[in-house]
Amino acid sequence: MILTIITQENKGLRKKSEPVETITPEIVQFINNMIDTLRSKPGLGLAAPQVGKNLRIIIIESRGSKDEEGNIIYENIPLTILINPEIVKFSKEKVEMDEGCFSVPNIFGPVSRPKKVKVVAKDIKGKKILINTGGLLARVMQHEIDHLNGVLFIDLIPDKSKLKELKTDQEIQG
Ligand code: ZN
Repeated sequence: MILTIITQENKGLRKKSEPVETITPEIVQFINNMIDTLRSKPGLGLAAPQVGKNLRIIIIESRGSKDEEGNIIYENIPLTILINPEIVKFSKEKVEMDEGCFSVPNIFGPVSRPKKVKVVAKDIKGKKILINTGGLLARVMQHEIDHLNGVLFIDLIPDKSKLKELKTDQEIQG
């Protein structure tokens, strides 16, 4: 089932989300709905508060994309479901990359973030997982985990003149 994505004027996006205590069948169904919702949109990730539930759940998936010349824009990332994700380590090195968000329609802009992160979380079966990575996955995980803490990417762009207009079919972090 495709869920409705809320946008920045909705106060739910500014709340700190609650940890998931038990992965009930209802939570599994909700995650399946999040997957349907993400796959219906041109984006790479989705956080539960974006579909109106203040729970610490994020999903990420990239089918990969290339520009007209065949250069890779976004690498492939298999479906990754993270419950109660927590960033336990950041690299000192930062990189800048354009970000967009389903909850902040029509704009995107450059956000500087740590290049690599170490994240601990639970998977959908409740098993502990550890992801130590850089690149696109590190970027999208940070964007989505920010959503769980009520932070939007535009908060990280103090110079609003750097915001640009999004093309309709452009893929965004979500
Ligand atoms: Zn977002």
